[in-house]
Amino acid sequence: MTHALHPAPAMRHYPPGETVDAVVIGTGAGGAPLLARLAAAGLSVVALEAGRHWSPERDFATDETEQNKLYWTDERLSGGEDPLAFGKNNSGIGVGGSTLHYTAYTPRAQPDDFRLCSDFGVGADWPIGYAELAPYYDELELFLGVSGPSPYPWGPARGAYPLPPLSLNAPAQLMARGCESLGIRTSPAANAALAAPYYQEGFGWRPACTNRGFCQAGCSTGAKASMDVTFIPLGIGAGAEIRPECFVTSFERDTAGTIVGVVYVENGAEQRQRCRHVFLCAGAVETPRLLLINDLANASGQVGCNFMAHTGLQLWGQFEEMVRPNKGIPGGLISEDTHRPADADFAGGYLLQSIGVMPLTYAGQVARGLGLWGEALHAHMAGYNHTAGINILGDCLPANDNELVLSDELDARGLPKPLIRFTNGDNEHRMTAHAERIMRRIWDAAGAGEVWAFPRNAHTIGTCRMGADPSKAVVDADCRAFDVPNLSICDNSVFPSALAANPALTIMALSLRTADRFLQTRGKAESAL
Ligand SMILES: Cc1cc2nc3c(=O)[nH]c(=O)nc-3n(C[C@H](O)[C@H](O)[C@H](O)COP(=O)(O)OP(=O)(O)OC[C@H]3O[C@@H](n4cnc5c(N)ncnc54)[C@H](O)[C@@H]3O)c2cc1C
Ligand code: SF4
Repeated sequence: MTHALHPAPAMRHYPPGETVDAVVIGTGAGGAPLLARLAAAGLSVVALEAGRHWSPERDFATDETEQNKLYWTDERLSGGEDPLAFGKNNSGIGVGGSTLHYTAYTPRAQPDDFRLCSDFGVGADWPIGYAELAPYYDELELFLGVSGPSPYPWGPARGAYPLPPLSLNAPAQLMARGCESLGIRTSPAANAALAAPYYQEGFGWRPACTNRGFCQAGCSTGAKASMDVTFIPLGIGAGAEIRPECFVTSFERDTAGTIVGVVYVENGAEQRQRCRHVFLCAGAVETPRLLLINDLANASGQVGCNFMAHTGLQLWGQFEEMVRPNKGIPGGLISEDTHRPADADFAGGYLLQSIGVMPLTYAGQVARGLGLWGEALHAHMAGYNHTAGINILGDCLPANDNELVLSDELDARGLPKPLIRFTNGDNEHRMTAHAERIMRRIWDAAGAGEVWAFPRNAHTIGTCRMGADPSKAVVDADCRAFDVPNLSICDNSVFPSALAANPALTIMALSLRTADRFLQTRGKAESAL
């Protein structure tokens, strides 16, 4: 990355004909931490990333339309009874992946999130639990510079966050007011934006958040811990090569089925990188799509199955006072009192979170959610500066009919477009109804006038499930594919259940663990020689 304050470390380059230890496909929350870890261990690492390597300071404008370049906008077909919106809603492209535009809420999953099936008899248990991920959560919070309250009011005891909480913006303050009068506990959220300047190993000083409220359109200052200002420079400094604008299309295999090369397109020309191991981290849509296109790692028939998307109902209220919802850190306040509500008629649970929103994003939601256009949309938007939102982040059960398959339509590269079928089940409907009742009471208590609900689902999860049984899962507990000897998968696709927590911190924790488990088994194999 070129950055006026942080000159990029010199990057090593590997000739494509040289056999490197590891090729990492995708540089988001799943790919970046592990590529840095592998490079730090002395492995030769090449990361292939479809998107560009931006310089935030130079390339990130305070302009929502300009920043659409951070979203994966290749067409994805949507089916089922609740077809999902993709593009801006769900995916990212570029060195750093979706973390370039995430809100940076970084709650940990709770221990019981990993054993939904044992506790409720539905969904799926994870083959690993909180105990395996907790050391990585600790490490990540420290490395990224997460700002948050200490002690954190929910979940197991843990060390203090390295930085104090960020200031609450107006929607967060209104949510706190409503919750307080109802006896619902709230807390400033854990957020991977900096409450104070922070020294980033491999990068230098990152500045404190200036409350621009533009996290979802890319943070131009480096205050938000996206991968491009954290693990990517760390990895480059340790000897990894990041090859941007390289779109992976296929794999070369030997007669034993081992991958010997990764084929990609760069500047319109096909290239191949020879390698000993592949880490596929292209996200829960492109990862299964690549596997299905290449008929890879699918002896179980599970690739593309169990697609999940968090239940994400938003409740918007208009207030007499000035709110200015685009100001301040958008991911501000959280309540986990609804993690396992006593009166629940559903399995699992959800978080309540305040939302800050940029004007065009809000206008798009009004158009989709309320069906308003033209003059009516214009009139509604006149109240934008008085609008505040709350949303839930709720579990979503895996279901047979929710899946990703290849469609008959081809994209500009001649590859089949992905078709994602999604329908909320009874559990998601009951959870959403429970949440809507509570959120309406919160906005009522906070003094909202007009209130409207926007049902939605967020995040792309599942499709390459992790498990203990090779006939029911695509990867094992160490994220290694069951039926390709040198393939690991690590991104949102391996989640067996959605978890009642925003996913990025857990994806990063899995990524570091995947690298460590790989290095341990590799070390054992080498010492056995
Ligand atoms: C608006 C928004 C706000 C969000 N806010 C939060 C939040 O507050 N907290 C949170 O935890 N999560 C949040 N998320 C979700 C979070 O960002 C994602 O779950 C997470 O980043 C996904 O990580 P991943 O590694 O699975 O995929 P990604 O981060 O999407 O990375 C995949 C990478 O692979 C690359 N790629 C794909 N196909 C190919 C190919 N064929 N060849 C080469 N490269 C390829 C892509 O370009 C991309 O860079 C948010 C998401 C959105 C859309
Ligand atoms: S609010 Fe803070 S973290 Fe978000 S874009 Fe602005 S400076 Fe970056």
